[in-house]
Amino acid sequence: DDLSRKIESKIDKKLIFKSKRGGLKDGFKKGKVINEVLDKPTVMTLYKMITDHIISYVNGAISAGKESVVFWGVENNDVNVALKIYLVSTSNFKKREPYILGDPRFSHIKKGTKNLVHLWARKEFRNLTQCYEAGIPVPRPLHLTKNVLVMEFIGQGGAPAKSLLTSEVDEGDYFQAISIIKDLYHKAKLVHGDYSEYNIFKTDSGLVVFDLGSGVDLRHPNAQEFLKRDINNITKFFHKRGVSVEDPDELFEEIIK
Ligand code: ATP
Ligand code: MN
Repeated sequence: DDLSRKIESKIDKKLIFKSKRGGLKDGFKKGKVINEVLDKPTVMTLYKMITDHIISYVNGAISAGKESVVFWGVENNDVNVALKIYLVSTSNFKKREPYILGDPRFSHIKKGTKNLVHLWARKEFRNLTQCYEAGIPVPRPLHLTKNVLVMEFIGQGGAPAKSLLTSEVDEGDYFQAISIIKDLYHKAKLVHGDYSEYNIFKTDSGLVVFDLGSGVDLRHPNAQEFLKRDINNITKFFHKRGVSVEDPDELFEEIIK
């Protein structure tokens, strides 16, 4: 730890946050982000990703949740990426336990495990990979180190694409949203677990689903209950927006049969 403190003191924070244009959004002062939002091990992880040439620098904050923050990062070849960082200190990972315990892919994890935060990041990465390989439209997973997940940036010029919530939607979007749930189930063998208008981008080339940290394997004992909830949530959303929707219970039976 003495060594890590030495390395840490040597980290030139300007190297990490090198915002070119506009940079950090309002309320994200550089020092504040680094010292209050990101803990020291995370700053070191970002620094290592830069010295390992995984990313070139971090260009600004996109979103700050209670349990994760998303940054706009830039790769060496100037390609934009999204960095999703799970916060170690503020996280209430008790809430997340039901989405990990019971998933046979993580069966070696014991109840009460401390570092669920790294595990959660690994789970989201793995879910993204399973989806990507199954041909489901998700941000392409690129890299994972500890609690920092690097993925394809969905959006333009550092601005994320709009979610369904903030977009105009039509019947075509509804069909796509439902076909994504079906493909998740039958092709990726996953249930999203937090499927909603907040976690689906609407892009010029169609819907893209993200925020897959809650996704569970079909063999999870609550998989069907989560699927039901996912179907209900998305059905409600499209119904509220005036799209004619299928009965969610029938849809559920149709998907699991
Ligand atoms: P949780 O729902 O568990 O609290 P979260 O909502 O904080 O997680 P996400 O939903 O994954 O985290 O991302 C938050 C926001 O960051 C999104 O609404 C979106 O605007 C932006 N974002 C996430 N992933 C990407 C991406 N791949 N490309 C561009 N923007 C992204
Ligand atoms: Mn989300």
